[in-house]
Amino acid sequence: MNIVRTRFAPSPTGALHLGNVRTALYAALLARAAGGFFLLRIEDTDTVRSRSDHETALMTDLRWLGLHWAEGPDLGGPHAPYRQSERAHHYAAFYDQLASEGRAYPCFCTEGELARERALQRAAGKPPRYSGVCAHLSRAEVEARNTTHPAASLRLRVPPESTLQWTDLVRGPQSFSGDDLGDFVIRRSDGTPAFLFANAIDDALMGVTHVLRGADHLSNTPRQCLILRALGLPVPHYGHLSLIIGADGAPLSKRAGALSLRELRAIGYLPEAVLNHLARLGHAYGEAGLLDLDGLASGFDPNHLGVAPARHDEATLRYWQKEALVHAEWTRLWDWLPTEVHSWVPDPERESFVATVRPNLLLPEEGTQWARVIYKEDALVFTKEARDAITAAGAAFYGAALEILAKHPEDFRAFSNEVKKATVMRGGALFHPLRAALTGTLAGPELAGLWRLLPQDRIRQRLQVHTE
Ligand code: GLU
Repeated sequence: MNIVRTRFAPSPTGALHLGNVRTALYAALLARAAGGFFLLRIEDTDTVRSRSDHETALMTDLRWLGLHWAEGPDLGGPHAPYRQSERAHHYAAFYDQLASEGRAYPCFCTEGELARERALQRAAGKPPRYSGVCAHLSRAEVEARNTTHPAASLRLRVPPESTLQWTDLVRGPQSFSGDDLGDFVIRRSDGTPAFLFANAIDDALMGVTHVLRGADHLSNTPRQCLILRALGLPVPHYGHLSLIIGADGAPLSKRAGALSLRELRAIGYLPEAVLNHLARLGHAYGEAGLLDLDGLASGFDPNHLGVAPARHDEATLRYWQKEALVHAEWTRLWDWLPTEVHSWVPDPERESFVATVRPNLLLPEEGTQWARVIYKEDALVFTKEARDAITAAGAAFYGAALEILAKHPEDFRAFSNEVKKATVMRGGALFHPLRAALTGTLAGPELAGLWRLLPQDRIRQRLQVHTE
């Protein structure tokens, strides 16, 4: 059986967002599940919009997620170079082949002429396609125009009677008729390769067996199959992933709250949260728990990819972040916490600080909030609910608590049992006023854990202020 080779082929024209990261993830999972190879190819033929800092940033993002590639622009490999801007010689050879075999021809039509042609076709209710003005120029006519006209583009000749069929890995059988495609441009008049040409050639030359990409590329695929067949090159299996939509049903955009991977990382999302969220965005998993890349790969099956648009909502991402936080090593969470936390928490208390606040974390800023409550703030900020609980308990409650504190300073359970006996309060009526006085709020980490971290005199002060 052939070894599976997949690739991620981003254009370095901007930051990676959830949509293109999911494409990279699925390609990486497919290769990993099959014991194959995942490659990185940079599609930088758009010289105006492509930037090397975007290329560097996207590689950093992929590495942060753990999506490592076996071949790529930085690593090299048997099919180097892996940047399209360095592969012009490959494309040139295939253009020559197609032109000399008469399968491609120069087209001298200007943008203006083509636009007029398309407008007329639309007005007549026909789909716009190239009418073939330059399809049958004689050699002499071509030579003459080469001297009198601006540079020509190169078009692939598409037999109108042909039918293009493939079985999409996600969408099943697909069929396009050559008549609907029309002859299309494979080399632009400025000499640069059309996207669909360079992309198809590179997949074939790099031995890519499976292409997973966005559904927005579906209409390129029949043309790419035609190119590869005309050249006798292997055609990969194509799978077109559903688009991601926001909770409002509209395509993901900044406005709908879709952040770049870089921004998600800067806010404090963990890579495994992003991976588990994306892996399930349009792919059904039998396993409901948090999975690492091997687990995600072994459960990955293109047959489980959905055709309907996949709905991203931030609540689900937050759910996976919580899961990731529950499972992360404490030292990793410690490193993830902000620098002020590092300076406030005494060295011997690091591990128990993380253990205490972990269930109450979503992003690093909550770590700061709890570190401040425990180590910094002498005057707490009280929520209204906390104030109400303090008022309801009354000064006598805190008076009793203060006396008992002197007997049980170390052990929260012994302390609270005694307060319970002395005040005849239990449940919320017992714990809410204690929590309110110690932390200023009614929600937070377990009191027993906080008790171990809070300095004794701070506990005393915080109870004492409510005895008057
Ligand atoms: N450079 C293309 C893009 O970023 C790649 C499409 C593909 O994966 O084939 O959309």
